[in-house]
Amino acid sequence: MDFRDLPEEAAFRSEVRAFIDAECPPQIRRRGFNAMFGGGGWDDIRVSTDDYRALNASWARTLASRGWIAPAWPKEYGGAGLTVMQQFIFNQEMANAGAPRGGNYGIGTGWAGPTIILYGNEEQKKRYLPGIVLGDDIWCQGFSEPGAGSDLAALQTRAVKDGDDYVINGQKIWTSGAHVSKYMILLARTDPEAPKHKGISYFILDMKAPGITVRPLVNMADNHDFNEVFFDNVRVPKENLIGEENRGWYVGTTTLDFERSGIATSVSHSLMVEHLADFMREHAGTGVIARNPELRNEVADRAIEAAVESMLCTTVISMQNRGLVPNKEGSIAKLFSSQLDVRISETAMKALGLYGQLRRGSARAPANGRIESTYIYATTSTIGGGTSEIQRNIIATRGLGLPRA
Ligand SMILES: Cc1cc2nc3c(=O)[nH]c(=O)nc-3n(C[C@H](O)[C@H](O)[C@H](O)COP(=O)(O)OP(=O)(O)OC[C@H]3O[C@@H](n4cnc5c(N)ncnc54)[C@H](O)[C@@H]3O)c2cc1C
Repeated sequence: MDFRDLPEEAAFRSEVRAFIDAECPPQIRRRGFNAMFGGGGWDDIRVSTDDYRALNASWARTLASRGWIAPAWPKEYGGAGLTVMQQFIFNQEMANAGAPRGGNYGIGTGWAGPTIILYGNEEQKKRYLPGIVLGDDIWCQGFSEPGAGSDLAALQTRAVKDGDDYVINGQKIWTSGAHVSKYMILLARTDPEAPKHKGISYFILDMKAPGITVRPLVNMADNHDFNEVFFDNVRVPKENLIGEENRGWYVGTTTLDFERSGIATSVSHSLMVEHLADFMREHAGTGVIARNPELRNEVADRAIEAAVESMLCTTVISMQNRGLVPNKEGSIAKLFSSQLDVRISETAMKALGLYGQLRRGSARAPANGRIESTYIYATTSTIGGGTSEIQRNIIATRGLGLPRA
């Protein structure tokens, strides 16, 4: 098989690369472990400096002017109408350059917006999509509850019709970014008598609506990323229902498909391995690296695994590019990628020796504590978007035809 770009793909890759070189300020670029936690996401919103925010906002506007905040969205909704393969190339080049995705890339661009494009009416598209493609509005996802995670259809938050509104009561948990979000995509039960998958509806919630309480959950890296969210008689206008009442499960699974298909991160893993190899070369004669020659073999294994991950991602993308829907292939890539997160950060922590225990802020913490931070966070990628056990269940049953446990 020839993995080289076709001529038009190579031309697009050069265009993206030249654009990033010319337009993306070097001060906001971060690669390898530096692009990991503490270098992006909610954490940046919390700890970054005013200068960084201003440069990032200006970069977001530059991306938005080309439709490159949401590159694969149709042009009529403010995207660039890229094909799946072009978007893959775009993502590779952005990750390779360490360029931030602009604005509030994530739930809004990655899965709330695409779900609204598929299931929303014209009014809803006009109202919600522009804020996402301009990088202005942050979105959160109110799906999981204390008794409903892997078994999401067991959710108990209620939405009761009352005149022109629905009245929401209940609780969500692990809601990433709820404390900084403008809107939430919410799954709530509208028919408690129906079989559990059939009585759920999908809403958009204004996070400023009266009756919403957001309570922080601080994780073991000492970051406030996710939250508990409580609803006490929160009124949602019926215009905020996405799709039909009681058909929200099917809308929600579409959102989850978008979420899972974006999870594998082969370029960032290759860069993390490169970053680790750089670190080991720089410290070759010292400390644990000098005492433990086996570490070289371990890093070589991680390099092989990052290459395998790249092949798995390419398989998924090439299926999508041919209009096929990856199913077990998506689960294989997600499972391999999240377990690799754990293995790379474990190898990196071994290479750091006792310095690995120093946290961000300590003058002697290698890579400003981001390796330690990545190590602590790595487990979360084996849980979010469907746990590793659930992915194995999918591969075993749908992929290998084994009976359900
Ligand atoms: C970093 C992070 C961010 C998140 N952000 C959000 C968010 O923004 N919005 C949101 O709604 N949710 C979010 N979540 C929640 C996430 O979707 C759930 O944690 C996940 O679906 C697992 O559900 P649970 O925590 O209830 O665990 P459970 O489902 O209770 O699982 C507990 C354990 O049992 C195992 N298990 C469960 N069922 C099976 C089975 N059938 N077969 C084999 N093993 C099984 C699981 O694999 C796991 O090991 C986030 C989670 C993380 C880690």
